[in-house]
Amino acid sequence: MSCYFCEQIKSIRKTGSCDGFIAEFKSSYVILGHGQYFKGYCILFTKDHKEQLGKLSEKNQKVLYADVITVAGAIDRAFKPARINYENLGNITHHIHWHIIPRYKNDPYKKLPIWQIPEGKRKGKLTKFQLEEVKKKLKRFMQHCTLV
Ligand SMILES: [Zn+2]
Repeated sequence: MSCYFCEQIKSIRKTGSCDGFIAEFKSSYVILGHGQYFKGYCILFTKDHKEQLGKLSEKNQKVLYADVITVAGAIDRAFKPARINYENLGNITHHIHWHIIPRYKNDPYKKLPIWQIPEGKRKGKLTKFQLEEVKKKLKRFMQHCTLV
């Protein structure tokens, strides 16, 4: 059975990158979230295919959580959102991953998780160039973190 994140990991190990690649941490990789209606949205996933947070050792849970917080810090410094949402679902892709989603002051969907926002809206309207600029900015703010 194929796993979206394992496919990304294969690409990173083969080419040093994957679609939306931003950073490599000790226990995880970070990519730009699919759709940038919420500018700076990132997805962080474990380097190994693990399905449940609770099955990781306590030490690995803490390392992973530190990675999540580092990404949130970079998003916060880069884009100054009003707050950040954290989602660890795994209902569709059974590989531990976190959606780290900046939410802005003028968010018309304040009461909704992003999954309830129509997909067409969620994609946002950034050009390829603007997406690269978002990635560059996030990379810059993640530079001083514990990257591999
Ligand atoms: Zn996987």
